[in-house]
Amino acid sequence: MNKLCWICLAVPVMFSCSQPVTGSGETALSQHNDTAVAKHIEAGNDYHSFSNPDEITVTHLDLALTADFEQKQLKGRATLDIVRQQAGADTLVLDTRDLNINSVTVNGQSVDYSLGASDANLGTPLSISLPANAKQVTVNYHTSPEASGVQWLTPAQTAGKQHPFLFTQAQAIHARSFIPLQDSPQVRITYDANIKTPANLLAVMSASNNPHTERDGDYSFSMPQPIPSYLIALAIGDLQFQAMGDRTGVYAEPALLKAAAAEFEDTESMLELTEEKYGPYRWDRYDLLILPPSFPFGGMENPRLSFITPTVIAGDKSLVSLIAHELAHSWSGNTVTNATWRDLWLNEGFTTYLTYRIMEMLYGPDRYNMEAVLGYQSLQSDIDALPEADQKLAIDLRGRNADEVFSDIPYEKGALMLREIEQKIGREAFDKFLLNYFEHFAFESITTDVFLTYLDKTLLKDYPEKLSRARIEQWIFQPGLPEGAPEPQSDAFSDIDEVRQRWLTDKRDANEIDTTLWTTHEWLYFLNNLPDSLPAQKLEELDNAFSLTQSQNNEIAHSWLMIAVKNEYKPAYDRLYKYLVNIGRNKLVKPLYRELAKTPQGKKLATKAFNEAKAGYHPLTIKANEGFIND
Ligand SMILES: [Zn+2]
Repeated sequence: MNKLCWICLAVPVMFSCSQPVTGSGETALSQHNDTAVAKHIEAGNDYHSFSNPDEITVTHLDLALTADFEQKQLKGRATLDIVRQQAGADTLVLDTRDLNINSVTVNGQSVDYSLGASDANLGTPLSISLPANAKQVTVNYHTSPEASGVQWLTPAQTAGKQHPFLFTQAQAIHARSFIPLQDSPQVRITYDANIKTPANLLAVMSASNNPHTERDGDYSFSMPQPIPSYLIALAIGDLQFQAMGDRTGVYAEPALLKAAAAEFEDTESMLELTEEKYGPYRWDRYDLLILPPSFPFGGMENPRLSFITPTVIAGDKSLVSLIAHELAHSWSGNTVTNATWRDLWLNEGFTTYLTYRIMEMLYGPDRYNMEAVLGYQSLQSDIDALPEADQKLAIDLRGRNADEVFSDIPYEKGALMLREIEQKIGREAFDKFLLNYFEHFAFESITTDVFLTYLDKTLLKDYPEKLSRARIEQWIFQPGLPEGAPEPQSDAFSDIDEVRQRWLTDKRDANEIDTTLWTTHEWLYFLNNLPDSLPAQKLEELDNAFSLTQSQNNEIAHSWLMIAVKNEYKPAYDRLYKYLVNIGRNKLVKPLYRELAKTPQGKKLATKAFNEAKAGYHPLTIKANEGFIND
């Protein structure tokens, strides 16, 4: 469970990069197409950007945009501060996707620019000719209503039903669909922004947000720390704020605000505990933004303002590891980032490891062990499902959609490797290493290879009898898990195994099972490990005893509905239909669609639900699931 950030997006393979490139700014793409020559991945080469930061680097962005909800367009300008890295470099290449460029100016004068050939994965390069003295470039543009990184929701698609809503999702390479920029994680920039909205709505960004700002439709922001482009984020809606602590608070639609603030009230404690262990929080405030149910992911670690799905508001804090995960990104990910998408495991693996540790500090070792076992089971099923090449931490993504990097491999396998190092050298020593690591690489974007070099100079030098370079490389560059990899255990789950077995073998009735002390994790473990095929009478017995069809916990409901679909348990189908129509989080709906699509009757139901839900789904959820329905 707790597939975090947008991990379970799992966008199907549907793009191939085959279009010839004839325009300028082809640096990245020509290398990316030329797989015959490039036998080895060149570390640090971003195969998912056209931009040329090695020649000219963008250091700061000044954004001025107006949100036009009628046209579904962001309109305005992006002004980029540039620094020449190579004398004589006179062409700035930016990434764009479906942007309408109106003009490009330097010091108020128009300059020549051209858009190159489009690529299905990468978008379109924008090449700008720079005068010799240029220090700033302004691009006047507007976005397309279909921008892959922007979702425009109608009032009907929000919790309050009164006002429209907008949110952006830039990771992995969708920032280019709403800002022309060097859309590569190895380029870090600071930014300022002015956003104009309808007067009754509030805009928030991954930047300094003033919780008490006047609601007047004109909002200014500043992000003084350098961040990669995938962390630029904007949301606009009927949002209100409630403080949870001195540095933490929550933004949400009025209908969700109170429940969210109660569910996530431990956020301030999480922040303090993480600081004690891994060093100072470097981003000033830490707030949460609760999105409408159509948000396709669990959460997104936009700095200072994590974007969060409402599906984790369970009423009992049982799903708050998502918050721990997004918060942990403030250290691993936002402070130290992957330089290319091949290196995502440096970001998500460290964050997943930190998440487990935060949950243990806050809720104790039982919770830690249970979440680790569920994570391990999820990893095992991904290893079973993925081709070997995609089971490596440092994945080869050349010629592929960058979104394909998201599986349990960078998250859970990455975390498991760190757990092994921790077990070998001891927790205290490993925590000290992490503290130094975050300090050493603060506000940098690094590759797997830079990490290995750092490891050579630190842990591999200090613990030669306990750790070896060969073992670490096996984790990173080989598929599956190395022999003897740690396997998390939970005593609480051993009890559940026994209970399940007794019920399955009719030694105990369902209503004799004492579940009063069961947490969500125990329920998930009980349900997820049932056999695929169960008689209707057994399902009915379970449902009657525990009202599983009506469970208001979206994770438990998900596990139960999966069982219902596999066994065509019809009493759950009304709930199943409502679930699919009302939730857009891909991790929760995709497995249900995939399972339904296995039978003609199931496919019929999936098609009906999908067509009704489609208007409220994020484009990424649509793309990930449209293959499961009838045309
Ligand atoms: Zn994450």
